[in-house]
Amino acid sequence: MSVNIAAYKTLKAELDAKGVTLVAVSKTKPAADILALYDLGQRDFGENYVQELLQKKPQLPQDIRWHFIGHLQRNKIKQLAPFVHLIHGVDAPALLQEGEKQGAKCGRVLTVLLQVHIASEETKFGFEVAQVAPLLQSVGAAPLPHVRAAGLMGMASNTADAMQVQREFATLAALYAHVKAQDIAPAFQYLSMGMSGDYAAAIAAGSNMVRIGSLLFGARE
Ligand SMILES: *Cc1c(COP(=O)(O)O)cnc(C)c1O
Repeated sequence: MSVNIAAYKTLKAELDAKGVTLVAVSKTKPAADILALYDLGQRDFGENYVQELLQKKPQLPQDIRWHFIGHLQRNKIKQLAPFVHLIHGVDAPALLQEGEKQGAKCGRVLTVLLQVHIASEETKFGFEVAQVAPLLQSVGAAPLPHVRAAGLMGMASNTADAMQVQREFATLAALYAHVKAQDIAPAFQYLSMGMSGDYAAAIAAGSNMVRIGSLLFGARE
């Protein structure tokens, strides 16, 4: 096991002091690693692959809050809907419609974040910044009772250019502030940005939820 307990304790104390929620990203890591952090009090875990999540979940305590942070496929929402705590990667209006359908089927309100494309890389998914407010307005006009849009998620470019990363996080933080000021999404409360390599910059820009994997669980294959 390569779980870095000391790093967890230091990070957790730092984040608690700042009121930032830690999502421990456990993709590709075994259930035993998750349990090691669970035993220290960690409850929010993030996974990227639906099959992997469904396979680990029954091996682990029931009170874990599972965050789905991967690229969301429409046909997988059905499997997440009965238990998922927060879906970070909604990047198309059709996913909101499907979330409504599956949430209704299992009598739950699915809490979701809109993923926004802030990186310069074309491979990163997400809405364009300019699409977000109009989308939330249209949802406001035709409400989805089983979907709650609770904030934004973004990933900065994978670059050594700290100024660029800072700019990208600032862009997402400004959009988040704009939505809140406009009062078009009453449930907005999460700004999910920051990973192992850039979480300090994300928090400085206003993140209140970070998704951290390798710093806690070691490098992935
Ligand atoms: C894998 C992943 C993370 C965690 O990345 P680390 O660099 O290991 O901290 C965070 N967010 C998303 C969306 C991921 O896919």
